[in-house]
Amino acid sequence: MSLPPTFTTRPTVKAILGGTFNPPHKGHIEAALSAADELGVHEVHLMPCKLAPHKAVGVSETHRVRMIELCAQTNDRLIPELIELTLPSPSYTVKTLRALKENSDDTICFFIGADSLYNLDKWYEWEHLLDYCHLVVMRRDDEEFSPPCAIQAWLDTHVSDDKNVIHTEPAGRVVLTNTPLYNVSSTEIREVLASTTSADKGHVLEGSPAELWLENAVLEYINEHQLYKS
Ligand code: ATP
Repeated sequence: MSLPPTFTTRPTVKAILGGTFNPPHKGHIEAALSAADELGVHEVHLMPCKLAPHKAVGVSETHRVRMIELCAQTNDRLIPELIELTLPSPSYTVKTLRALKENSDDTICFFIGADSLYNLDKWYEWEHLLDYCHLVVMRRDDEEFSPPCAIQAWLDTHVSDDKNVIHTEPAGRVVLTNTPLYNVSSTEIREVLASTTSADKGHVLEGSPAELWLENAVLEYINEHQLYKS
């Protein structure tokens, strides 16, 4: 059996959280930064995907990018990564990762939530993802981890118990982090925002999930542009 290639010098590790970010919320950010801390990585790149027209609920690509930029302006550990928006539609993560590797020698750590992992075998060419990256699964430490059988069998072959592997091998491993996954989704936030009436002047109720889970700058932007209103 051939051994995986190893580095002779320490590589640059690029952590990426891909998503629709429609809108980006603190659940994304806090979970990704916590996972990055666990791996000894400082920055996390937020990479919006292209949305099929029927899934582009509420906002244009420009608005999603602007909201990601606002998150990045409030936290210097966050960096927008917009490559996927420049690639042909539809977005496929494996193609995006391939394009990233063509442009740089960085080691890519692609972050996903455990919920996304459970559906990984539905992703286009999912078994090739690890040709280009390490997959970092943001797993909730207080919840049972029970992927479907096909995914579990794949994990058994690829999981590394040594988190340092992202600094010593260029790709090919899955690392499970114990990340607090926050009980919030963009869907829930969109629903709350859609239920605010024009009489509210676009302002969400105090203590609502939108106020709790959005960065202030993002909430202000949403109000200013009247996004997600039904
Ligand atoms: P939607 O509700 O529109 O489906 P979402 O809130 O699930 O959106 P996405 O942009 O689809 O957000 O998710 C991007 C990535 O972030 C995915 O890997 C997903 O598993 C992860 N993620 C989403 N919400 C959370 C959360 N609350 N905590 C940690 N990770 C999350």
